[in-house]
Amino acid sequence: MNLLRTCFIVGLLLCGAVMAAPADKRIAISVDDLPLANQRPLSLADKQAQTERMLAALRKHQVPAIGFVNEDRLQVRGEVDGHISLLQRWLDAGMELGNHGYGHLSMQKTPLDQYQDAVLRGDVVLRSLLVPRGQAPRYWRHPYLQTGKSDEETAQFEAFLARRGYRVAPVTVEHDDYVFACVYERADAAGKRRTLEAYLPHLDLALDAYERMSQELFARQIPQILLIHANEINADSLDATLQRLRERGYRFITLDEALADPAYASPTAASKQFGSSWLARWARALNKKLSVYGQPDPSGWVAERYAAECR
Ligand SMILES: [Zn+2]
Repeated sequence: MNLLRTCFIVGLLLCGAVMAAPADKRIAISVDDLPLANQRPLSLADKQAQTERMLAALRKHQVPAIGFVNEDRLQVRGEVDGHISLLQRWLDAGMELGNHGYGHLSMQKTPLDQYQDAVLRGDVVLRSLLVPRGQAPRYWRHPYLQTGKSDEETAQFEAFLARRGYRVAPVTVEHDDYVFACVYERADAAGKRRTLEAYLPHLDLALDAYERMSQELFARQIPQILLIHANEINADSLDATLQRLRERGYRFITLDEALADPAYASPTAASKQFGSSWLARWARALNKKLSVYGQPDPSGWVAERYAAECR
């Protein structure tokens, strides 16, 4: 009798555990515009400090992140070596680095041959850092997420990338971090606090939207790829951002692992001028209507400041 009762209780517990098991939520973290996407002049010492804060947060949460480099940002008179050493820090911390193009060009506004030159010019230093480590750059991230003026150009460019060992790094989640970053950079201490108070809730709105899109398109939570930028607001808040992701049930994975999911083999529609999440591109290519296409625009005080000072 006792045994029977024990079995019954164990069965209930097991059943409860299975029912309560959360969806397998995974996310890869990608950080664009390395070494630093500052809009106002910033000393090398400040860039070093911001880089260290981002890397400390990534290490604390054991995130295998990938950073995307704009090599033109290394070209600071008298400080080129110092800026290259910022990239070394990312590699020393165990992060991967990819190519984001020399000059951060818009594919929408740039002839393809010139755009391709920016890919080649964009990995000269990167290769010199990776070769001693037995590595080569493997991922390309399109500036502005613009992937071509036509399907033909997209195909032509991706063939060019493939010949050079590159694969496109898509994005499924972004939360307008550049908007908050610009306001944050220009704010005093009180303004910075207010900006941060609005920043994390906006991440939640974005995740609500992209998780819903995943569910509607694939009937499950696919591994997501988050885009953020290397900047002051993320240096100050990446720890909180990663903590929030963990609280929502995410575990952190590499870009490789995310892209191994079959969802990423879905047909992809062209990007139009403003690069949208790949979830929206897949929906367009599959002719599926979704109830939501990303997060609402940032609102209130942050939006007003952005419109007044950053546009
Ligand atoms: Zn960028």
